[in-house]
Amino acid sequence: MQLQPEHARRIVDAIDTAFDAQLAFTQELVRHPSLRTQEASAQDLLFDAMRDRGLEMDRWDLDPEELATHPGAGRVAVSYENVGNVVGTYRPEREEGRSLILNGHVDVVPEGPLDEWSRSPWDAPILDGWLYGRGSGDMKAGLVANLFAFDAIRAAGLEPTGRIHFQSVVEEECTGNGSLSALQRGYRADAVLIPEPEEDMLVRANTGVIWFTMRVAGRPIHPREMSAGFNAIDAAYHVMSRLRELEARWNADKGQHRFFEDLEHPINFNLGGIRGGDWPSSVPAWCELDVRVALYPGVTADAAWAEIQECLSSVTADEAGNPLEAIATRNGFYAEGYVLEEGSDAESVLRGAHREVFNDELKSFTTPGYLDGRVFALYADMPALVYGPISEAIHGYDERVDVESVRRITKSIALFIAEWCGVTPIEASPGQNALAENGAVQTV
Ligand code: ZN
Repeated sequence: MQLQPEHARRIVDAIDTAFDAQLAFTQELVRHPSLRTQEASAQDLLFDAMRDRGLEMDRWDLDPEELATHPGAGRVAVSYENVGNVVGTYRPEREEGRSLILNGHVDVVPEGPLDEWSRSPWDAPILDGWLYGRGSGDMKAGLVANLFAFDAIRAAGLEPTGRIHFQSVVEEECTGNGSLSALQRGYRADAVLIPEPEEDMLVRANTGVIWFTMRVAGRPIHPREMSAGFNAIDAAYHVMSRLRELEARWNADKGQHRFFEDLEHPINFNLGGIRGGDWPSSVPAWCELDVRVALYPGVTADAAWAEIQECLSSVTADEAGNPLEAIATRNGFYAEGYVLEEGSDAESVLRGAHREVFNDELKSFTTPGYLDGRVFALYADMPALVYGPISEAIHGYDERVDVESVRRITKSIALFIAEWCGVTPIEASPGQNALAENGAVQTV
Protein backbone atom coordinates (compact mmCIF):
# COMPACT_ATOMS: atom_id res chain seq x y z
CA MET A 1 0.00 0.00 0.00
CA GLN A 2 1.11 3.53 -0.84
CA LEU A 3 -1.09 4.87 1.91
CA GLN A 4 0.94 6.01 4.90
CA PRO A 5 0.49 3.58 7.82
CA GLU A 6 -0.42 6.49 10.09
CA HIS A 7 -3.18 7.57 7.67
CA ALA A 8 -4.46 4.00 7.38
CA ARG A 9 -4.58 3.71 11.16
CA ARG A 10 -6.51 6.96 11.53
CA ILE A 11 -9.02 5.91 8.86
CA VAL A 12 -9.62 2.52 10.47
CA ASP A 13 -10.00 4.14 13.91
CA ALA A 14 -12.52 6.60 12.48
CA ILE A 15 -14.69 3.69 11.30
CA ASP A 16 -14.75 2.38 14.88
CA THR A 17 -15.55 5.83 16.27
CA ALA A 18 -18.56 6.30 13.99
CA PHE A 19 -19.66 2.67 13.88
CA ASP A 20 -22.63 3.06 16.22
CA ALA A 21 -23.89 5.91 14.07
CA GLN A 22 -23.34 3.79 10.96
CA LEU A 23 -25.42 0.96 12.41
CA ALA A 24 -28.15 3.37 13.52
CA PHE A 25 -28.34 4.82 10.02
CA THR A 26 -28.45 1.33 8.49
CA GLN A 27 -31.34 0.44 10.81
CA GLU A 28 -33.16 3.61 9.82
CA LEU A 29 -32.74 2.71 6.14
CA VAL A 30 -33.97 -0.87 6.68
CA ARG A 31 -37.11 0.59 8.29
CA HIS A 32 -38.08 2.01 4.90
CA PRO A 33 -39.79 -0.86 3.05
CA SER A 34 -38.20 -0.08 -0.31
CA LEU A 35 -39.99 -2.75 -2.27
CA ARG A 36 -40.11 -2.40 -6.04
CA THR A 37 -41.61 1.00 -7.06
CA GLN A 38 -41.77 2.01 -3.37
CA GLU A 39 -38.17 3.14 -3.01
CA ALA A 40 -38.82 6.89 -2.84
CA SER A 41 -38.74 7.40 0.95
CA ALA A 42 -35.53 5.39 1.30
CA GLN A 43 -34.07 7.43 -1.56
CA ASP A 44 -35.11 10.64 0.25
CA LEU A 45 -33.13 9.50 3.26
CA LEU A 46 -30.06 8.72 1.16
CA PHE A 47 -30.40 11.95 -0.79
CA ASP A 48 -30.33 13.94 2.46
CA ALA A 49 -27.43 11.89 3.82
CA MET A 50 -25.37 12.57 0.71
CA ARG A 51 -26.31 16.24 0.52
CA ASP A 52 -25.38 16.69 4.19
CA ARG A 53 -21.95 15.37 3.30
CA GLY A 54 -21.55 18.20 0.81
CA LEU A 55 -21.87 16.01 -2.27
CA GLU A 56 -23.10 17.38 -5.60
CA MET A 57 -26.57 15.87 -5.92
CA ASP A 58 -28.39 14.31 -8.84
CA ARG A 59 -31.75 12.51 -8.74
CA TRP A 60 -33.94 11.36 -11.60
CA ASP A 61 -36.73 8.95 -12.41
CA LEU A 62 -35.91 6.08 -14.70
CA ASP A 63 -36.99 6.59 -18.31
CA PRO A 64 -38.46 3.39 -19.79
CA GLU A 65 -38.12 4.67 -23.35
CA GLU A 66 -34.47 5.56 -23.02
CA LEU A 67 -33.78 2.26 -21.26
CA ALA A 68 -35.50 0.33 -24.03
CA THR A 69 -32.78 1.52 -26.43
CA HIS A 70 -30.16 -0.44 -24.46
CA PRO A 71 -29.60 -4.13 -25.28
CA GLY A 72 -29.03 -5.00 -21.61
CA ALA A 73 -32.20 -3.38 -20.28
CA GLY A 74 -34.89 -5.44 -18.64
CA ARG A 75 -38.43 -5.24 -19.96
CA VAL A 76 -40.67 -3.23 -17.68
CA ALA A 77 -44.30 -3.79 -16.80
CA VAL A 78 -44.47 -1.28 -13.94
CA SER A 79 -44.67 2.50 -13.93
CA TYR A 80 -41.38 4.30 -13.32
CA GLU A 81 -43.11 7.37 -12.00
CA ASN A 82 -41.32 8.24 -8.75
CA VAL A 83 -38.92 5.32 -9.25
CA GLY A 84 -35.49 6.86 -9.40
CA ASN A 85 -31.81 6.85 -8.66
CA VAL A 86 -29.85 9.09 -6.32
CA VAL A 87 -26.22 9.95 -7.06
CA GLY A 88 -23.96 12.14 -4.95
CA THR A 89 -20.66 13.21 -6.44
CA TYR A 90 -17.53 14.14 -4.57
CA ARG A 91 -15.18 16.28 -6.66
CA PRO A 92 -11.72 17.01 -5.28
CA GLU A 93 -10.44 20.53 -5.80
CA ARG A 94 -7.65 19.19 -7.97
CA GLU A 95 -8.52 15.88 -9.51
CA GLU A 96 -5.30 13.90 -9.50
CA GLY A 97 -6.26 10.42 -8.40
CA ARG A 98 -8.26 7.65 -10.02
CA SER A 99 -12.02 7.99 -10.06
CA LEU A 100 -14.47 5.58 -8.48
CA ILE A 101 -18.13 4.66 -8.45
CA LEU A 102 -19.46 3.30 -5.15
CA ASN A 103 -22.72 1.63 -6.09
CA GLY A 104 -25.48 -0.08 -4.16
CA HIS A 105 -29.13 -0.89 -4.70
CA VAL A 106 -31.85 0.34 -2.39
CA ASP A 107 -34.65 -1.92 -3.67
CA VAL A 108 -35.51 -5.07 -1.74
CA VAL A 109 -37.48 -8.20 -2.59
CA PRO A 110 -40.92 -8.96 -1.08
CA GLU A 111 -40.94 -10.25 2.48
CA GLY A 112 -43.30 -13.21 1.89
CA PRO A 113 -45.71 -14.46 4.57
CA LEU A 114 -45.12 -12.25 7.62
CA ASP A 115 -46.16 -15.02 10.05
CA GLU A 116 -42.98 -16.84 9.19
CA TRP A 117 -40.75 -14.00 10.34
CA SER A 118 -39.65 -13.96 13.99
CA ARG A 119 -40.39 -10.21 14.00
CA SER A 120 -41.37 -7.55 11.52
CA PRO A 121 -39.04 -7.42 8.49
CA TRP A 122 -38.99 -3.63 8.94
CA ASP A 123 -37.99 -3.40 12.64
CA ALA A 124 -34.26 -3.74 12.06
CA PRO A 125 -33.19 -4.86 15.55
CA ILE A 126 -29.62 -5.85 16.34
CA LEU A 127 -29.55 -9.16 18.22
CA ASP A 128 -26.52 -11.28 19.04
CA GLY A 129 -24.33 -9.48 16.56
CA TRP A 130 -26.78 -9.59 13.65
CA LEU A 131 -28.74 -6.72 12.16
CA TYR A 132 -32.09 -8.09 10.98
CA GLY A 133 -34.61 -7.07 8.38
CA ARG A 134 -35.50 -7.32 4.72
CA GLY A 135 -32.70 -5.65 2.81
CA SER A 136 -30.34 -5.57 5.79
CA GLY A 137 -27.81 -7.75 4.02
CA ASP A 138 -29.06 -7.28 0.45
CA MET A 139 -27.82 -4.62 0.50
CA LYS A 140 -28.50 -1.67 2.74
CA ALA A 141 -25.57 -2.43 5.04
CA GLY A 142 -23.28 -2.13 2.02
CA LEU A 143 -24.98 0.95 0.66
CA VAL A 144 -24.47 2.71 3.99
CA ALA A 145 -20.92 1.37 4.34
CA ASN A 146 -19.98 3.27 1.17
CA LEU A 147 -20.90 6.58 2.81
CA PHE A 148 -19.33 5.86 6.18
CA ALA A 149 -16.13 4.66 4.55
CA PHE A 150 -15.91 8.07 2.89
CA ASP A 151 -16.70 9.82 6.18
CA ALA A 152 -13.84 8.00 7.89
CA ILE A 153 -11.31 9.34 5.41
CA ARG A 154 -12.40 12.89 6.11
CA ALA A 155 -12.64 12.25 9.84
CA ALA A 156 -9.02 11.18 9.61
CA GLY A 157 -8.20 14.65 8.32
CA LEU A 158 -7.79 13.51 4.72
CA GLU A 159 -9.65 13.93 1.48
CA PRO A 160 -9.65 11.76 -1.63
CA THR A 161 -7.91 13.20 -4.68
CA GLY A 162 -10.08 11.29 -7.17
CA ARG A 163 -13.70 11.89 -8.15
CA ILE A 164 -16.24 9.61 -6.45
CA HIS A 165 -19.86 8.95 -7.43
CA PHE A 166 -22.05 7.46 -4.70
CA GLN A 167 -24.90 5.69 -6.45
CA SER A 168 -28.06 4.46 -4.78
CA VAL A 169 -29.96 2.67 -7.53
CA VAL A 170 -33.34 0.97 -7.89
CA GLU A 171 -34.44 -2.05 -9.93
CA GLU A 172 -31.47 -4.30 -9.14
CA GLU A 173 -33.69 -7.16 -8.04
CA CYS A 174 -35.75 -7.36 -11.24
CA THR A 175 -34.19 -5.70 -14.29
CA GLY A 176 -30.86 -4.06 -13.49
CA ASN A 177 -32.33 -0.92 -15.04
CA GLY A 178 -31.27 1.35 -12.18
CA SER A 179 -27.54 0.95 -12.73
CA LEU A 180 -28.11 0.94 -16.49
CA SER A 181 -29.93 4.24 -16.23
CA ALA A 182 -26.99 5.71 -14.30
CA LEU A 183 -24.69 4.52 -17.07
CA GLN A 184 -26.94 6.07 -19.71
CA ARG A 185 -26.85 9.30 -17.75
CA GLY A 186 -23.11 9.36 -18.32
CA TYR A 187 -21.60 8.17 -15.04
CA ARG A 188 -18.23 6.51 -15.61
CA ALA A 189 -15.15 5.97 -13.46
CA ASP A 190 -11.89 4.02 -13.40
CA ALA A 191 -13.47 1.33 -11.20
CA VAL A 192 -16.70 0.45 -9.44
CA LEU A 193 -17.17 -1.20 -6.07
CA ILE A 194 -20.51 -2.75 -5.05
CA PRO A 195 -20.75 -4.06 -1.47
CA GLU A 196 -23.33 -6.78 -2.05
CA PRO A 197 -23.45 -9.47 0.68
CA GLU A 198 -20.62 -11.70 -0.55
CA GLU A 199 -19.33 -13.32 2.64
CA ASP A 200 -16.22 -11.11 2.89
CA MET A 201 -15.19 -12.26 -0.58
CA LEU A 202 -14.79 -10.89 -4.10
CA VAL A 203 -17.00 -12.06 -6.96
CA ARG A 204 -14.88 -13.45 -9.78
CA ALA A 205 -17.71 -14.40 -12.10
CA ASN A 206 -21.47 -14.50 -12.11
CA THR A 207 -24.33 -15.57 -14.27
CA GLY A 208 -26.68 -13.52 -16.34
CA VAL A 209 -30.40 -13.78 -15.70
CA ILE A 210 -33.49 -13.73 -17.91
CA TRP A 211 -37.04 -13.48 -16.64
CA PHE A 212 -40.06 -14.50 -18.64
CA THR A 213 -43.68 -15.40 -18.22
CA MET A 214 -44.92 -18.48 -20.01
CA ARG A 215 -48.61 -18.82 -20.77
CA VAL A 216 -50.45 -22.00 -21.70
CA ALA A 217 -54.08 -22.00 -22.81
CA GLY A 218 -56.53 -24.72 -21.78
CA ARG A 219 -60.06 -25.69 -22.74
CA PRO A 220 -62.49 -25.07 -19.89
CA ILE A 221 -65.32 -27.42 -19.21
CA HIS A 222 -67.32 -28.75 -16.26
CA PRO A 223 -65.30 -31.45 -14.45
CA ARG A 224 -68.16 -33.95 -14.96
CA GLU A 225 -66.86 -34.17 -18.55
CA MET A 226 -63.25 -33.46 -17.68
CA SER A 227 -61.78 -35.57 -20.45
CA ALA A 228 -63.37 -33.23 -22.97
CA GLY A 229 -61.44 -30.28 -21.50
CA PHE A 230 -57.77 -29.47 -21.42
CA ASN A 231 -56.19 -28.52 -18.11
CA ALA A 232 -53.84 -25.55 -18.63
CA ILE A 233 -52.22 -25.94 -15.21
CA ASP A 234 -51.32 -29.59 -15.78
CA ALA A 235 -50.04 -28.61 -19.22
CA ALA A 236 -47.89 -25.81 -17.81
CA TYR A 237 -46.20 -28.30 -15.48
CA HIS A 238 -45.52 -30.50 -18.46
CA VAL A 239 -43.86 -27.59 -20.27
CA MET A 240 -41.85 -26.79 -17.13
CA SER A 241 -40.52 -30.34 -17.09
CA ARG A 242 -39.18 -29.76 -20.61
CA LEU A 243 -37.52 -26.55 -19.43
CA ARG A 244 -35.91 -28.64 -16.67
CA GLU A 245 -34.34 -30.76 -19.40
CA LEU A 246 -32.87 -27.62 -20.94
CA GLU A 247 -31.60 -26.62 -17.49
CA ALA A 248 -29.93 -30.03 -17.13
CA ARG A 249 -28.27 -29.63 -20.54
CA TRP A 250 -26.89 -26.22 -19.64
CA ASN A 251 -25.57 -27.56 -16.34
CA ALA A 252 -23.96 -30.51 -18.11
CA ASP A 253 -22.07 -27.89 -20.13
CA LYS A 254 -20.42 -26.30 -17.10
CA GLY A 255 -17.00 -27.72 -17.95
CA GLN A 256 -16.91 -25.37 -20.95
CA HIS A 257 -17.34 -22.30 -18.79
CA ARG A 258 -14.40 -20.84 -16.93
CA PHE A 259 -15.01 -20.42 -13.17
CA PHE A 260 -18.17 -22.53 -13.30
CA GLU A 261 -16.60 -25.98 -13.69
CA ASP A 262 -16.55 -26.71 -9.97
CA LEU A 263 -20.02 -25.49 -9.07
CA GLU A 264 -22.44 -28.28 -8.40
CA HIS A 265 -25.43 -26.74 -10.17
CA PRO A 266 -24.53 -23.33 -11.59
CA ILE A 267 -27.61 -22.88 -13.78
CA ASN A 268 -30.85 -22.64 -11.86
CA PHE A 269 -34.24 -22.26 -13.51
CA ASN A 270 -36.55 -20.99 -10.80
CA LEU A 271 -40.28 -21.37 -11.14
CA GLY A 272 -40.96 -18.25 -9.11
CA GLY A 273 -44.66 -17.64 -9.61
CA ILE A 274 -47.77 -19.36 -10.85
CA ARG A 275 -51.26 -18.14 -11.68
CA GLY A 276 -54.03 -19.95 -13.40
CA GLY A 277 -57.59 -21.14 -13.48
CA ASP A 278 -60.78 -19.31 -12.59
CA TRP A 279 -62.84 -21.75 -10.57
CA PRO A 280 -62.37 -25.01 -8.64
CA SER A 281 -65.17 -26.63 -10.62
CA SER A 282 -63.96 -25.55 -14.06
CA VAL A 283 -61.09 -27.19 -15.88
CA PRO A 284 -58.54 -24.33 -15.94
CA ALA A 285 -58.60 -22.26 -19.10
CA TRP A 286 -55.19 -20.74 -18.61
CA CYS A 287 -51.97 -20.89 -16.64
CA GLU A 288 -49.02 -18.52 -16.37
CA LEU A 289 -45.63 -19.36 -14.92
CA ASP A 290 -43.00 -16.78 -13.95
CA VAL A 291 -39.61 -18.24 -14.67
CA ARG A 292 -36.10 -17.06 -13.93
CA VAL A 293 -33.24 -18.67 -15.83
CA ALA A 294 -29.49 -18.17 -15.54
CA LEU A 295 -26.88 -18.06 -18.29
CA TYR A 296 -23.10 -18.34 -18.26
CA PRO A 297 -20.89 -15.32 -18.93
CA GLY A 298 -20.07 -15.23 -22.60
CA VAL A 299 -23.49 -16.56 -23.59
CA THR A 300 -25.49 -13.71 -25.03
CA ALA A 301 -28.98 -13.08 -23.73
CA ASP A 302 -30.21 -13.33 -27.32
CA ALA A 303 -28.67 -16.80 -27.72
CA ALA A 304 -30.08 -18.04 -24.41
CA TRP A 305 -33.49 -16.59 -25.19
CA ALA A 306 -33.47 -18.27 -28.61
CA GLU A 307 -32.75 -21.63 -26.96
CA ILE A 308 -35.53 -21.13 -24.46
CA GLN A 309 -38.00 -20.30 -27.20
CA GLU A 310 -36.82 -23.23 -29.25
CA CYS A 311 -37.36 -25.51 -26.25
CA LEU A 312 -40.84 -24.13 -25.72
CA SER A 313 -41.86 -24.38 -29.34
CA SER A 314 -40.69 -28.01 -29.40
CA VAL A 315 -43.37 -28.82 -26.83
CA THR A 316 -46.40 -29.29 -29.04
CA ALA A 317 -48.36 -31.80 -26.95
CA ASP A 318 -48.72 -33.03 -23.39
CA GLU A 319 -47.96 -36.61 -22.29
CA ALA A 320 -51.38 -37.78 -23.46
CA GLY A 321 -50.83 -36.27 -26.87
CA ASN A 322 -53.17 -33.31 -26.46
CA PRO A 323 -51.86 -30.42 -28.52
CA LEU A 324 -50.58 -27.40 -26.62
CA GLU A 325 -48.71 -24.19 -27.18
CA ALA A 326 -46.53 -22.36 -24.66
CA ILE A 327 -46.05 -18.65 -25.32
CA ALA A 328 -43.17 -16.94 -23.48
CA THR A 329 -42.92 -13.22 -22.94
CA ARG A 330 -39.90 -11.44 -21.45
CA ASN A 331 -40.84 -9.42 -18.40
CA GLY A 332 -37.75 -8.44 -16.42
CA PHE A 333 -34.03 -9.21 -16.52
CA TYR A 334 -32.40 -9.64 -19.90
CA ALA A 335 -28.92 -9.66 -18.49
CA GLU A 336 -25.66 -11.33 -19.40
CA GLY A 337 -23.07 -12.61 -16.95
CA TYR A 338 -19.54 -11.31 -16.60
CA VAL A 339 -16.11 -12.26 -15.37
CA LEU A 340 -13.85 -9.98 -13.35
CA GLU A 341 -10.59 -10.68 -15.15
CA GLU A 342 -7.68 -11.28 -12.82
CA GLY A 343 -4.81 -8.83 -12.60
CA SER A 344 -6.58 -5.46 -12.62
CA ASP A 345 -5.08 -2.64 -10.57
CA ALA A 346 -8.43 -2.19 -8.86
CA GLU A 347 -8.41 -5.77 -7.64
CA SER A 348 -4.86 -5.55 -6.39
CA VAL A 349 -5.67 -2.38 -4.45
CA LEU A 350 -8.70 -4.09 -2.92
CA ARG A 351 -6.55 -7.10 -2.05
CA GLY A 352 -4.15 -4.82 -0.20
CA ALA A 353 -6.97 -3.12 1.70
CA HIS A 354 -8.57 -6.43 2.60
CA ARG A 355 -5.26 -7.89 3.79
CA GLU A 356 -4.66 -4.86 5.99
CA VAL A 357 -8.03 -5.22 7.73
CA PHE A 358 -8.59 -8.98 7.75
CA ASN A 359 -4.97 -10.05 8.10
CA ASP A 360 -5.78 -12.61 5.44
CA GLU A 361 -5.81 -12.97 1.67
CA LEU A 362 -8.97 -11.94 -0.16
CA LYS A 363 -10.74 -14.96 -1.61
CA SER A 364 -12.72 -14.81 -4.81
CA PHE A 365 -15.61 -17.00 -5.89
CA THR A 366 -18.27 -17.54 -8.50
CA THR A 367 -21.88 -16.73 -7.77
CA PRO A 368 -24.79 -18.13 -9.78
CA GLY A 369 -26.97 -15.02 -9.41
CA TYR A 370 -27.49 -11.65 -11.03
CA LEU A 371 -25.29 -8.67 -10.11
CA ASP A 372 -25.33 -5.08 -11.34
CA GLY A 373 -21.57 -5.43 -11.75
CA ARG A 374 -22.36 -6.64 -15.29
CA VAL A 375 -23.61 -3.16 -16.25
CA PHE A 376 -20.20 -1.63 -15.60
CA ALA A 377 -18.12 -4.61 -16.76
CA LEU A 378 -19.97 -5.29 -20.02
CA TYR A 379 -21.03 -1.84 -21.14
CA ALA A 380 -18.35 0.49 -19.75
CA ASP A 381 -15.32 -1.78 -19.58
CA MET A 382 -14.81 -0.95 -15.91
CA PRO A 383 -13.33 -3.32 -13.31
CA ALA A 384 -16.38 -4.22 -11.19
CA LEU A 385 -15.51 -5.22 -7.64
CA VAL A 386 -18.46 -6.88 -5.95
CA TYR A 387 -17.33 -7.41 -2.39
CA GLY A 388 -19.27 -7.23 0.84
CA PRO A 389 -20.28 -8.56 4.23
CA ILE A 390 -21.47 -11.86 5.63
CA SER A 391 -25.23 -12.32 5.60
CA GLU A 392 -27.81 -15.02 6.08
CA ALA A 393 -31.23 -15.65 4.53
CA ILE A 394 -31.22 -12.95 1.89
CA HIS A 395 -34.54 -13.19 0.02
CA GLY A 396 -35.67 -15.48 2.89
CA TYR A 397 -37.16 -15.15 6.39
CA ASP A 398 -35.24 -13.28 9.10
CA GLU A 399 -32.68 -11.88 6.68
CA ARG A 400 -29.69 -10.60 8.63
CA VAL A 401 -26.20 -9.19 8.25
CA ASP A 402 -23.20 -9.82 10.48
CA VAL A 403 -22.41 -6.57 12.29
CA GLU A 404 -18.69 -7.20 12.80
CA SER A 405 -18.36 -8.23 9.19
CA VAL A 406 -19.94 -4.90 8.21
CA ARG A 407 -17.37 -3.11 10.37
CA ARG A 408 -14.46 -4.89 8.70
CA ILE A 409 -15.85 -4.43 5.20
CA THR A 410 -16.36 -0.71 5.83
CA LYS A 411 -12.74 -0.41 6.92
CA SER A 412 -11.65 -2.27 3.85
CA ILE A 413 -13.73 -0.04 1.56
CA ALA A 414 -12.33 3.07 3.25
CA LEU A 415 -8.74 1.91 2.75
CA PHE A 416 -9.61 0.97 -0.83
CA ILE A 417 -10.97 4.45 -1.53
CA ALA A 418 -7.92 6.07 0.06
CA GLU A 419 -5.48 3.93 -1.88
CA TRP A 420 -7.36 3.96 -5.20
CA CYS A 421 -8.24 7.65 -5.32
CA GLY A 422 -5.26 8.85 -3.27
CA VAL A 423 -5.62 11.20 -0.32
CA THR A 424 -4.28 14.53 0.74
CA PRO A 425 -4.53 16.28 4.12
CA ILE A 426 -7.59 18.50 4.39
CA GLU A 427 -6.55 22.12 4.39
CA ALA A 428 -8.23 24.11 7.08
CA SER A 429 -11.11 26.21 5.76
CA PRO A 430 -14.23 27.61 7.41
CA GLY A 431 -16.27 24.66 6.13
CA GLN A 432 -13.94 22.18 7.70
CA ASN A 433 -13.97 24.03 10.99
CA ALA A 434 -17.66 23.31 11.23
CA LEU A 435 -16.96 19.64 10.70
CA ALA A 436 -14.17 19.75 13.28
CA GLU A 437 -16.54 21.20 15.84
CA ASN A 438 -18.82 18.26 15.26
CA GLY A 439 -15.90 16.03 16.05
CA ALA A 440 -15.86 14.73 12.49
CA VAL A 441 -12.38 15.96 11.72
CA GLN A 442 -9.38 15.39 13.89
CA THR A 443 -6.38 17.69 13.81
CA VAL A 444 -3.86 16.58 11.22
ZN1 ZN B 1 -28.41 -7.42 -3.93
